[in-house]
Order: sequence, then structure tokens, then C-alpha cells
Amino acid sequence: MPMISKLMSCRILAVALTCLGSAQTAVAELRVFACEPEWGALVLELVPDALVTSATHAGQDPHHIEARPSLIAAMRRADLAVCTGASLEAGWLPTLQSRASNPAVHDGRPGMFFASEHTTLIDADPSADRSKGDVHPEGNPHFHLDPGRLLEVARALGARIGEIRPAAAAAVQERLKGFEAQWNARVDRWREDAAPLRGRRVVVQHTAFAYLLGFLSMEASADLEPLPGLPPTVAHLQSVLESIGEQAPVAILQTTYQRPQPGEWLAQRSGLPLLRVPSTVTEAPETDTLAELYDSIIAQLLRVAQR
Ligand SMILES: [Zn+2]
Repeated sequence: MPMISKLMSCRILAVALTCLGSAQTAVAELRVFACEPEWGALVLELVPDALVTSATHAGQDPHHIEARPSLIAAMRRADLAVCTGASLEAGWLPTLQSRASNPAVHDGRPGMFFASEHTTLIDADPSADRSKGDVHPEGNPHFHLDPGRLLEVARALGARIGEIRPAAAAAVQERLKGFEAQWNARVDRWREDAAPLRGRRVVVQHTAFAYLLGFLSMEASADLEPLPGLPPTVAHLQSVLESIGEQAPVAILQTTYQRPQPGEWLAQRSGLPLLRVPSTVTEAPETDTLAELYDSIIAQLLRVAQR
């Protein structure tokens, strides 16, 4: 396969489309199991010819997936697993790890990289009780949508890959430097472009975009979930509808993996636009890298805010 098409196929992050083949480069055959597509995309920024399998795609809720045999097989082959941690994958990752019986990716080994161990999380609540919803006691794990935290993870991931593949460490550091420079330039532009969003509000569903809203100095005025992780109820939606007048949000913001119905219910009754955006990289060309994902979400927020 020519190099260019191989690289393109490597970008495809669905599990069924694991990139196969071997490129003669410094990091030959680095097989990576990414729990979520954002980490697969980050690995490819640092090691473009890594063989990445993502356990989930943008249309799936990363809190809840099934430990399918294809995922167990992918984990069995992995040299490195890159996951969010902070209990996001608590319902399925331990099962995959134990069924795959691949010691390289057991907790505590260099091959098991938890992004949450390399940054700080907001909204930690150690006393949080899972009976009160699918809460995140360690803090909000959806931090890949914070540009600063993403960079912290990128640096730690670069170091970890260098540990696993010492021969490639210098090349990975070189790519990290380039990624960092481009990312910082984008961050400056996002701040500038998103100035009209400062202080604006959105109705959200779950805390999936909390970090991005924080970066943009936006606020969540209400949550369609009555409790974290619990599906919206009509009674709760009714109370959100009643609160909208004073809040004046610019939109109802959902991720593409959430059922549209609660957002549609509220949009019909409130007249607010319903904005459904992917919360992670997708296979679509306009959102298939982390930078483009941020570009796309910010552009869509600006569009609804300017109505
Ligand atoms: Zn969550």
C-alpha cells in the first residue's frame, strides 16, 4: 500500500478498520488500543504510522460500551493502551483487560496509559455516590476538550511512548514539539475568534462539554440530565423549560452520541436551536483531527450565538 493511503487508513479510528501493515519507520508496529477516539487521534499526531484501534467512536457513549470479542482481541495485540481513566471506562475496561490477558496493558505497566493521571480534573467529589447517578467522583473525565489539559496529556503520552519504544523517543519528541507549536497557535486563534461567546450560556446534557465551555468562558445554564448520567425525564425537562426565560441561553448543546429526543422536546417548546456536535474526533474530514474538532465546535457555537 502506498504510504499516503496507508497514513489515511491509519486515521480511520473505527475498530473494524484497524490499520494493518507495517511501515519501516522508527516506531514500527506500535499497536495502540485507544479507549476513545481522541486518544487515538493524539497518538497519531505523535506516531503517524501507529496501528490504532479505538474501542469507541463519536456515536457511542464512552461511559457504556460492551466488552465485545473484537475489542478483547485488539487489546490482546496492543503494545500500548491509552484511556481516559477517572472511572470513565470503569464499566468495561477492566473486563477487557482481564479477558485479553495481555500483561503489557495491565494497570501500573508502562503500556497502560491513563490520561487523567497527567492532568487535573474539575468537579471532583470523592463523596459522590453512584446510586445518585452515573457520577464522576474523581472529577469530570471529559477533559480532552480543554486545550491546555490536552497538551499536558500529549507531553506525558510522548514521554510514555518513548519509554516503550526508546529507539523512537527522539522522533516522538520532535513531533510533539511540532504539535505543541501548532496547537498553541490554534489556542490563540480560538480565544480570539470565540470572544463573542464569552459570558454566553447553553443548555447542556451531561458534563461532556464542561471543559470547553470553561475555556470559552461560557456557562451551562441548565442540564437536561436530572442527575449526572441519568436520562432526562419529562418532569425535569419541564423545569428546565420554565427556567429558560431568565437564562437566555444561545442553544441546547448535545453530543452526537446522546439521543436527540430530549433536546428536540426542549427546542420545540423553547424555540432555542438544538446544536448536536461530536464530542470527539470522527471519520468525517471536517472533524477527523483534534484541532479540526475544536474548530468545528467553536464555529457552530459562534453561528448559533450570532443568530
Ligand atoms: Zn461523563
